Amino acid sequence: MIDRRQKVIGELLPPERLMMTPGPSSVDPRVYRAMAAPIVGHMDPWFTKMMDDVQELLRQAFQTSNHLTFPISASGSGGIEAAVMNALDAGDQCIVCINGAFSERMAIIAERIPAKVIRVEAPYGRTVDPQDVLRAGKGKKIKFVGLAHGETSSGVVHRIDDYRKVADELGALLVVDTVATLAGIPLDVTKQGIDICFSGSQKAISAPPGMAPITVNTRVEEAMHARKEPVRSWYFDLTSAMNYWGKERLYHHTPPITLIYAMREALRAVLEEGLEARWERHLRSQQALIAGIEAMGLSLFVTDPADRLVTVTAINIPAGIEDAKVRLQLLNEFNIEIAGGLGPIKGKIWRVGLMGYSCQEANVLLFLAALEKTLLDQGFRLPAGAGVGAAIQSYQHSSQPAIVGAKK
Ligand SMILES: *Cc1c(COP(=O)(O)O)cnc(C)c1O
Repeated sequence: MIDRRQKVIGELLPPERLMMTPGPSSVDPRVYRAMAAPIVGHMDPWFTKMMDDVQELLRQAFQTSNHLTFPISASGSGGIEAAVMNALDAGDQCIVCINGAFSERMAIIAERIPAKVIRVEAPYGRTVDPQDVLRAGKGKKIKFVGLAHGETSSGVVHRIDDYRKVADELGALLVVDTVATLAGIPLDVTKQGIDICFSGSQKAISAPPGMAPITVNTRVEEAMHARKEPVRSWYFDLTSAMNYWGKERLYHHTPPITLIYAMREALRAVLEEGLEARWERHLRSQQALIAGIEAMGLSLFVTDPADRLVTVTAINIPAGIEDAKVRLQLLNEFNIEIAGGLGPIKGKIWRVGLMGYSCQEANVLLFLAALEKTLLDQGFRLPAGAGVGAAIQSYQHSSQPAIVGAKK
């Protein structure tokens, strides 16, 4: 007998959206197939051996041979937490370059240790000046300089090399948040001398959200083992987590088995395509997107083209157009999700993600057509077809189509 007071909840049937947000991105069907594989135990010899594959794939994606490289069981923010907590002791000093919500998160986490955080800031849409970092740290004992490679909240990219130089001059470690950039734009942890680098599974890697790959070099690893006080977070203590991801494979916590399958398959797809081909695909698609946006008479939030983050494009919302209405129509009529602004630029910009599996020619053209239609419906004057036309031309000028799995 059905209890009539009990509401019958139907089967789960999520809509199939095209994810053009700054994460999560759409997931390749081959990754969903991997996720349907049966659960095994986290101490099963088959599984602990498979973990080697994931670590090796991650080293290739990060371009490092760092022993301590593995996916943390947490979202990208857990990556920030782990990086910061393992690098700092209470009372230590660090510098965080802040130009948006995610780099600010790094500062907030460090302040809670509590560490003394020197905030070197730039307005949303701009990069932090490395000379400001140098001036702020001169003569002080600075544990690390931290920054977001790609600041997702405003669509800005930092040139890592400039901050490495400054960190060297200050005798500091370099901590880089690559949540929005790993597998989307050029990154070489070894060549660029990044001491602690972390990312997220759901952005340019296009696995589901919930894992934060991290890699730490031997300089940091040695410092971690020499700590006088234990890391204040038990869960994010990398030295003990490494007993599970290291040779011993000792139980630490039950990892999300299915997400690790997904990471493995998503990373296999990344490396099958090749990092350079993948970076190229992202760049080509953003160029087409920008050509389309500008041809529609819209403008970009980041004014200096050299500062634009390839994986996230911030578009100024034109006067008289309602942010939420446009995004709702894109969702309801075209099944496309894009994002609005965060913090001080909420309501002022749209953020369009071109990440991983989402970043394809067909999606860029569909999005531009959908945006044109939506804006026309909302009373914005533009020549219909201008955006799509410009994007097609942009793609025609580049040598290869931006299709995942395209023949080389
Ligand atoms: C998305 C993002 C984060 C946060 O990741 P979550 O998975 O939402 O916790 C941190 N940093 C950057 C640069 C990001 O783009």
